[in-house]
Amino acid sequence: MKRKKKETRGDRWEKNIWRAYGLTPWMVVEMYAEQGGKCAICTNDLHEKNWVIDHKHVRNYKKLSPEEKRKFVRGLVCIYCNWKVLGQIERAGRVRAVRACRYLGFLAGTSLEREAT
Ligand SMILES: [Zn+2]
Repeated sequence: MKRKKKETRGDRWEKNIWRAYGLTPWMVVEMYAEQGGKCAICTNDLHEKNWVIDHKHVRNYKKLSPEEKRKFVRGLVCIYCNWKVLGQIERAGRVRAVRACRYLGFLAGTSLEREAT
């Protein structure tokens, strides 16, 4: 009888990203390369453990097939931007978020280069 190969952390990650996002490791590597190894929002470097795969939150997402889930993947973002920025903005909704940025003067045409930390 053939002995079952022990599942590694990498194997679990591979299964997880397929189930959760419909992505293969190679697809994630391509996304990482396309983003230059930077967070899609703040442009800080993505390190081994400080980033997540971001997806659009649509109704019944968890019930979709992996291939359907893949259509909603937006990019790789750092944990800070995912939890503290995207989460808040999505909960607030587009209109409130844009109005808040306008109110704060964030849409006043200033350069965004290296503003995020
Ligand atoms: Zn970020």
